[in-house]
Amino acid sequence: MAGAAEDRHRERRLAMVRRQIEGRGVCDPRVLEAMRTVPRHRFVSRSLASDAYKDHPLPIPAGQTISQPYIVALMAEAAAIGPDDRVLEVGTGSGYGAAVLAELASSVVSVERHRKLADAAARVLSKLEYANTTVVCADGSQGHLPGAPYDAVVVTAAASSIPPALVDQLADGGRLVIPLGSPSQSQNLTLITRMGEETTSKRFCPVRFVPLVEES
Ligand code: SAH
Repeated sequence: MAGAAEDRHRERRLAMVRRQIEGRGVCDPRVLEAMRTVPRHRFVSRSLASDAYKDHPLPIPAGQTISQPYIVALMAEAAAIGPDDRVLEVGTGSGYGAAVLAELASSVVSVERHRKLADAAARVLSKLEYANTTVVCADGSQGHLPGAPYDAVVVTAAASSIPPALVDQLADGGRLVIPLGSPSQSQNLTLITRMGEETTSKRFCPVRFVPLVEES
């Protein structure tokens, strides 16, 4: 019975990757494989499991959302994560994005400000045996200094400007992917690349994220 349900989820997941992700031009084979692998339905409440592979964000507790699958894939592709990379995610939410990053990287630190969300995400990531992933409950706009420098930083909440700590904690050649703009409107998905003390910036597409709460 459980096996049949898992098979159905897998079918939906493969169709999701084909139609929503490859169909829109994401082509990094490692990102596509990660999206085919991570069981997104395990990161949402039971009542939403059958919607887990649909083409939109879904609600999670504390008034937050798990991003649309295509946006998760686009951000992972933009961050150009290699197998030896150390990655910081800001905004763990459900833990789904962290699992996708964990498929791509050597290690992932994911920071979430809501204790309940951080604990729930840590539990599901541990159940799914993502041993290379650590969830930290803190203000992620300050990064997470003990794990720095990071080869990639992925921010899954909207910021009106780039939090300086996140650039400081990037390795030379490191990439920061962040939705930049007013939290009440749509933001621009932006890639910042650090080269020594210089940064370059490239805009992708308009996106809509919940706000990055800056506590200090
Ligand atoms: N990546 C998530 C989606 C996250 S939604 C997933 O795959 O499910 C954005 C998350 O960012 C929310 O859970 C919110 O609580 C968190 N957040 C907002 N501001 C934050 C901050 N300053 N530090 C850490 N987490 C923050």
